[in-house]
Amino acid sequence: MHDLIIRGGTIVDGSGNPRRNADIAIDGDRIAAVGVVAGGAHRTIDATGCLVTPGWVDVHTHYDGQATWDPILAPSSWHGVTTVVMGNCGVGFAPVRPGQEKFLIELMEGVEDIPGSALAEGMDWRWESFAEYLDALEEMPRAIDVATQVPHGAVRAYVMGERCNTQDDLPTEDEIEQMAQIVHDGIAAGALGFSSSRTLLHKDKHGIHVPGTFAGSDEMLALGMSMKGLDHGVFELVSDHLGSDDEWAWVKQFAYATGRSVTLVATSAGAYEGNKMFNIAEAARRDGIEVRPQMAGRPTGVLHGLQSNFHIFMRHPTYANELKNLPLDQLVSKMREPATKAKILAEHSTLTRTLSAASLDELLWQIFPLGEKPNYEPNREDSVAGIAKRAGRDPFEVMYDLLVDHDGKELFYQPLGGYRTYNFDFFRANMQHPNIMFGLSDGGAHCGVIADAGMPTFIITHWARDRTKGEQLPLEYLVKKLSFDTAAAYGMHDRGLLAAGKLADLNVIDFDKLNLHRPEAIYDLPTGGKRLVQRVDGYRHIVKRGVPIFADGEHTGALPGKLVRG
Ligand SMILES: [Zn+2]
Repeated sequence: MHDLIIRGGTIVDGSGNPRRNADIAIDGDRIAAVGVVAGGAHRTIDATGCLVTPGWVDVHTHYDGQATWDPILAPSSWHGVTTVVMGNCGVGFAPVRPGQEKFLIELMEGVEDIPGSALAEGMDWRWESFAEYLDALEEMPRAIDVATQVPHGAVRAYVMGERCNTQDDLPTEDEIEQMAQIVHDGIAAGALGFSSSRTLLHKDKHGIHVPGTFAGSDEMLALGMSMKGLDHGVFELVSDHLGSDDEWAWVKQFAYATGRSVTLVATSAGAYEGNKMFNIAEAARRDGIEVRPQMAGRPTGVLHGLQSNFHIFMRHPTYANELKNLPLDQLVSKMREPATKAKILAEHSTLTRTLSAASLDELLWQIFPLGEKPNYEPNREDSVAGIAKRAGRDPFEVMYDLLVDHDGKELFYQPLGGYRTYNFDFFRANMQHPNIMFGLSDGGAHCGVIADAGMPTFIITHWARDRTKGEQLPLEYLVKKLSFDTAAAYGMHDRGLLAAGKLADLNVIDFDKLNLHRPEAIYDLPTGGKRLVQRVDGYRHIVKRGVPIFADGEHTGALPGKLVRG
């Protein structure tokens, strides 16, 4: 008698091998058998007509705060993610000295756009060291597994205090040694790695670069080398300098000396141009080191809209001074008044942050209404400017009208890093490199402007089912990259594969019905903080450690998730 049998599904097992029909038997938290399963079970799930895949392992999230108060970790958990790795990009909440809590919150608020008031209200800070933070995470019941990394920002603040984010004040040798010890101890206690950010893009709430941005190669190498002698540990690095000789030299030195892997996140727009990431992946393969650039399955997108924190009229004086703080329904009715509309359209914006476009006019060719069924690989003529051109109308007026349509709930996708080719062929080419790893869903972060936590759902629906603009990719390949590969990269060899002995983390998916909704704003963070989320249909069952946690999108109440220690 098994605990659970999943019968009759089409198994895509995470190995990359062709799909096959089979049953899966589960005992306790482990898969007991995959094949023809005879006998009974306490519980049976009929998976006829459905895909059965491993649960997704998402290695790039920022649930560091949320994981201390929220057992569900939506939206990632809605999308079949059964393991998240957090502590990315050098930001997080441990170690922390009493009195430094606010600094770390403002760092997270600035870099990852998570409401500071929600973090302040939600976290109880019953830890100081990284090991104590792990214990606090472990004590809490949760639906899915969490794993984390020691963040450079917190380590620097702990050791260097107020000097941690000044550009010229480098740490002393003694301070570097102390930091290295903290990184070592955190990983020894169970963190999966160490993360750091060296990008000018990442700033705290007050616009100050994050600690570590200007850290020298000697500091980076020393912190990395602290993993030497440990049996696990990944170095996650966000950087503007990827591929530069200076950085490549110490990355290589670290990788050779420790045998550990590095995962790289590029932030500059240039990363999506030319073959930068692909070349880095190739160089790593040539040099025989494990360096894995992270990529999402589509360009990270800023969402414009009245429900988002961003749209092109946000700094028009009338909007900024009189309308910005109105509740959505009042905002929409006010914006619909012809006098208000005429006034705003006649004004000039002080919006200087034009993202990847030279002007707002140009930007309107890069903004796409998402609609009920979002299309993330649209044509040029689907842009706001394209819609206006076809209608012979002023593009700014069209943008304005679309913003107030659907009661102000429409959201607009603006791909970052440029979308000049109006197709994702570049992404497809990169996704085929074995060293390039899926990441960057940024679950739990960028609450006001980005909703990419549903990335795994997007990846399998778009790339293996819906794409018409060019070639697709095999489902088996994508499933492997979303589960086995990401798990293995972080040393989690107990998951990511549907095979006897592995953890019973799996998704039963009605693939024909698997669909992303239009993102929406909800106000469920502590103190009513807002976040953009994206709902999904089609995950019939999500099973974590042998226990169904979601059935047709509803949480079953079960909380079998754990802290993963390295
Ligand atoms: Zn990040």
